[in-house]
Amino acid sequence: MNIDAKEIELIVQKVLENIDVKTLSTPKADNGEDGVFDHVEEAIEAAYQAQRRWVKDYNLEDRKRIIAAIRRVSEEHAEELAKMVRKETGMGRYEDKVKKHLAVIRKTPGVECLTTDAISGDEGLMIEECAPFGVIGAITPSTNPTETIINNTISMTAGGNAVVFNVHPGAKRCCTYCLKLLHKTIVENGGPANLITMQKEPAMETVNTITASPKIRLMAGTGGMGMVDALLRSGKKTIGAGAGNPPVVVDDTADIPYAAKEIYRGASFDNNLLCLAEKEVFVMDSVADQLVEALEKEGAYLLNSRQLEVITSFAMLNKDGIFQINKKWVGKDAALFLEEIGICDHKDTRLLICETDARHPFVRLEQLMPVLPIVRCRTFEECVKQAVLAENGNRHTSSIFSKNVDHMTIFGKEIETTIYTKNGATLRGIGIGGEGYTTMTIAGPTGEGLTCARSFTRKRRCMLAEGGLRIV
Ligand code: NAD
Repeated sequence: MNIDAKEIELIVQKVLENIDVKTLSTPKADNGEDGVFDHVEEAIEAAYQAQRRWVKDYNLEDRKRIIAAIRRVSEEHAEELAKMVRKETGMGRYEDKVKKHLAVIRKTPGVECLTTDAISGDEGLMIEECAPFGVIGAITPSTNPTETIINNTISMTAGGNAVVFNVHPGAKRCCTYCLKLLHKTIVENGGPANLITMQKEPAMETVNTITASPKIRLMAGTGGMGMVDALLRSGKKTIGAGAGNPPVVVDDTADIPYAAKEIYRGASFDNNLLCLAEKEVFVMDSVADQLVEALEKEGAYLLNSRQLEVITSFAMLNKDGIFQINKKWVGKDAALFLEEIGICDHKDTRLLICETDARHPFVRLEQLMPVLPIVRCRTFEECVKQAVLAENGNRHTSSIFSKNVDHMTIFGKEIETTIYTKNGATLRGIGIGGEGYTTMTIAGPTGEGLTCARSFTRKRRCMLAEGGLRIV
């Protein structure tokens, strides 16, 4: 092929023009404000560059130091954050939100859980290490908004990752404040800018952009099943922490006053906003009266069938016989429900209880309200069967009050939940009054369980053959 000088010049010019266009369309990574960007593409690019620095220029001691600073600053602001979340979302209880913040601040593990597996044998030394994914896209819920940002920031950056958050639009002000606070702390303590980022106006479309970006190597979604399913359908590797509807079984060997105390505490905590909070009780007939009486002694208000009917009519939306929760009533105080039905002298009650059958929408739907249905069952086996149906395959959380070890084992095997609490409020299962670490991202659907830094890493194997480095 013969090409003259003029043609070559034209080709070169075209190539240069193209390079120019590409350079212009690359998102800028330097125009965010404390990690908050106008455009999600910029938030992704900035986090990408920060993550490269986080793994190249910083070591594990740096990660430890910066995470310690995040804990310190978050604890100083725990009350303020709890107040902001309560004000913006209008859900839950301030004093419980303070406890949730302190739990994630103090009990989310850092780099210490990034342990190395090793096998040493005749054919050499094999080690498997926890390596970062890169940039993680994290979707956060309205029910634990800033708690999830703090928890995910510690876990994900401890694992060597950067994070682009897509927060719930209904909690964007408190989340933006929290993200900027943590971002400033990272930078003031010598860490890279934009290790955590978000888009100023989060929306469903931004979730799609994050998921589709080749620079995002992992999605971590904390919220309802609609969101988790959407992430799983996207084809991107996903850690999905979805809905729960935790049942409680109470058998005839249980310490009933103690069970009532724990159930009251757990089901009323933050007005039942926690995905792992007790949502319905299946109790053996022979101890049902005793349990209801004991719950009333703890402070619960027992609704009669008429009162329950009225509450169901406004707290649930009935579309042609199919019930959905009315989001306006999610996480509201028990006293507000009572006021709505004309009862104004029970301002201190934190929990409403009611007797229902197993098919009632308050049993079958994850309602996130301080209204606890109690279902009488003739036998233990019936309790188990109904509890499994109510849990709906979420594999999230369940609990039992019993002194019968066989019952504990049978229910545990049948229910298959990620968290299974015996003789205690379910919130003990995430380390609030129980052993073990805390997380706000409980990945039942995808199987990572209670997530920590290790969950947000990928395994890399290094093999030293020929006995290299072995000393035995
Ligand atoms: P939600 O599902 O309405 O919102 C969660 C997040 O997902 C938000 O950021 C929202 O903007 C986004 N989102 C919602 N639908 C989406 C879709 N189709 N595509 C992409 N993104 C979408 O949940 P919520 O009301 O904020 O939180 C309560 C729910 O979260 C409950 O179901 C609760 O059980 C669950 N939850 C689970 C865990 C867990 O660890 N498993 C923790 C907290 C909350």
